[in-house]
Amino acid sequence: MTQFNEYTGADGSAAQHEGPYIDCRDLFKIYKRADLEVVALRGLDLRVEPGELIAVIGASGSGKSTLLNILAGLDRPSAGEVLVGSRDLLDVSDSDLVMYRRSEVGFVWQATARNLVPYLSVADNIELPMALSGQPAKTRHAWSEELLESLGMADKRKRLPYQLSGGEQQRAAIAVGLANKPPLLLADEPTGELDTENADSIFQMIRGLNRSYGVTVVVVTHYAGVSQFVDRVVHIRDGRIGSETFSRPDYRRDGDTVEEEYVVVDPAGRLQLPHDMAERFIRGGLAKIEFEDGQITIDAPGTNPRQPRRGS
Ligand code: ADP
Ligand code: MG
Repeated sequence: MTQFNEYTGADGSAAQHEGPYIDCRDLFKIYKRADLEVVALRGLDLRVEPGELIAVIGASGSGKSTLLNILAGLDRPSAGEVLVGSRDLLDVSDSDLVMYRRSEVGFVWQATARNLVPYLSVADNIELPMALSGQPAKTRHAWSEELLESLGMADKRKRLPYQLSGGEQQRAAIAVGLANKPPLLLADEPTGELDTENADSIFQMIRGLNRSYGVTVVVVTHYAGVSQFVDRVVHIRDGRIGSETFSRPDYRRDGDTVEEEYVVVDPAGRLQLPHDMAERFIRGGLAKIEFEDGQITIDAPGTNPRQPRRGS
């Protein structure tokens, strides 16, 4: 079995990792353009365990790509904490960030054309990042063959990207992302340009790779059927994690997976309610809360006479 890279500490030493693989706390990203500021992430908290496969969903503009770009080391956060392995991405040198991007993270873009070099064969596309990190030819061939085999693309290794379907291009892109055996794979809407059948098969492959190689995966998606392929679905709203959905395959009925949605309690103890539920409380301005046996019950204020008036 192929062994993926362990996290390498900033000093280059291999470090055994304990605790969450990704740990974002109160993360902020503020884009400044002239005198305009856009707060893309506002106090985001997210932990991902080593080997976990999670999907991030949310409306357009909610900060999904911003989060992924920060985790990929393509963009730097403005404030807060973001640890990947035990590397602090808020406080990392440029040269360390280059190392990180090369060997510790694989990235798949939505646009198929952005993932592959058009004039290189599928196999050469996969072997290019390996050559850049100094892998000998024999190692490169063996790994690209194994990857293509597990992606059901062994017979396509000599093809150029334009000779592949969209779904095949994205599979090849995943293989490129895993070329240097990174502990982390990130994908930003990898099935955005594919139909349902192809999307299903891509998520199946991602799940398979996650299970066989133990690679941690964060995938941003709009794909409605994603929950059956992942360990956890994280809902991002206005630059924060709003709620999380867990699939409960043990309660499978009629082939459907039963899903449970949980609100998020952040490290400051704040609850973030799902948007539609929050609406009910925001209008009233007050909520009644009760704790019992680890359960929290919240009631909308309804006819509460002490309800504050807005704008007075
Ligand atoms: P999503 O991927 O969920 O659609 P993004 O992370 O791309 O959302 O964007 C979140 C917010 O940040 C949006 O309001 C977007 O316009 C803004 N934004 C993203 N990238 C930039 C940038 N480079 N400069 C300025 N604003 C940006
Ligand atoms: Mg996006």
